[in-house]
Amino acid sequence: MKQKPYLQAFPNAEGYFGKFGGAFLPPQLIEQFKQIEKAYLTIGNSHNFIQELRDIRKHYQGRPTPVYYAKRLTEYVGGGRIYLKREDLNHTGAHKLNHCMGEALLAKYLGKEKLIAETGAGQHGVALATAAAYFGLECEIHMGEVDIEKEHPNVIRMKMLGAKVVPVSFGAKTLKEAVDSAFDAYLKESDRAIYAIGSVVGPHPFPKMVRDFQSIVGIEAKEQFFEMTGNLPDNLVACVGGGSNAMGLFSAFIEDPCEIYGVEPLGRGTKLGEHAASLNYGSEGVLHGFNSIMLQNTDGTPAPVYSIASGLDYPSVGPEHAYLFSENRTHAVAIDDEEAIQAFYDLCKFEGIIPALESAHAVAYAMKLAKEKKYESILVNLSGRGDKDIDFVEAHYPPEKYL
Ligand SMILES: *Cc1c(COP(=O)(O)O)cnc(C)c1O
Repeated sequence: MKQKPYLQAFPNAEGYFGKFGGAFLPPQLIEQFKQIEKAYLTIGNSHNFIQELRDIRKHYQGRPTPVYYAKRLTEYVGGGRIYLKREDLNHTGAHKLNHCMGEALLAKYLGKEKLIAETGAGQHGVALATAAAYFGLECEIHMGEVDIEKEHPNVIRMKMLGAKVVPVSFGAKTLKEAVDSAFDAYLKESDRAIYAIGSVVGPHPFPKMVRDFQSIVGIEAKEQFFEMTGNLPDNLVACVGGGSNAMGLFSAFIEDPCEIYGVEPLGRGTKLGEHAASLNYGSEGVLHGFNSIMLQNTDGTPAPVYSIASGLDYPSVGPEHAYLFSENRTHAVAIDDEEAIQAFYDLCKFEGIIPALESAHAVAYAMKLAKEKKYESILVNLSGRGDKDIDFVEAHYPPEKYL
């Protein structure tokens, strides 16, 4: 009998990628998540759903986003050819809308009236608020008070888009508490609301669902790259926070002879608390309802994490990344703050593209790899644009020093 293709075989029916994944839920939520899974498998595979999502991607999001040969950056590095998949040109300026539109469309088909989620830096909140406005759904975003203070422009965006921002004032008042708070709210309203997770993390079926919604990135890129070069890319590079933009690109190439690199944030260094390189330095553990590789204290609680890119500072990683890495299908590498900032400015200078600080990690690694692999091609997922980061970068890493 024919072997199942990778994307059909993983995750299995219980949501496992090898030993990673699953659904570790409070008893009150088990039924809800089963329902979402069943709806996703039936509705998500219906012709109408697929057709409507394709229509949205083309006419609302502005897809396909281009694949672009970064000629001047390549010449500057003097090595392998660097290509960029331009998710910075997706509506709202990053890849996140790819899965938010999918999740919101599913909510609509389920007859739900409301989207609930947490946000850290506000990027997921803004993308979800956009999707809610598009479909005319209510939207409630839980956000730590510390993050509300730090990420003011995104708070304004969410409000302008009609979302309710709920400040979370307990514990460290950041992402982890925002998740707890959003789960509580969802528990109370699970009949009329859907919880929309922001990456390939969380309990099954979210890691699968979000990967599938993001897979458009890889499907487009494969076709575009082939049309440009007549070949597959030799290497793929993407930054990994939870891992959604990376899985979006990688998923189309798992069974192809491409080297795959997930780039984690090394922050200020290798000491626990100074980075968020979960695959590089973590160990197996359960957080936020799934089993994966996480950064933990000796007592098993999640370790504090840090990165200059707030979209990357998560103490765990999507279970599929843990699986692919443990099977040696992917490489886990890391880039520190300084290297990311230099790559941020290099892309500004040589290509006229201001990247998100998250994406700058992927660019920085691609530049290193290009020096090593002089006669190969490197396809980078440029996950987002850097408008959100310019004030911070200008204040702490002035252009005079780096250009
Ligand atoms: C949120 C974000 C990321 C990190 O999320 P993943 O799920 O790892 O992709 C990366 N890049 C940008 C631009 C983001 O907004």
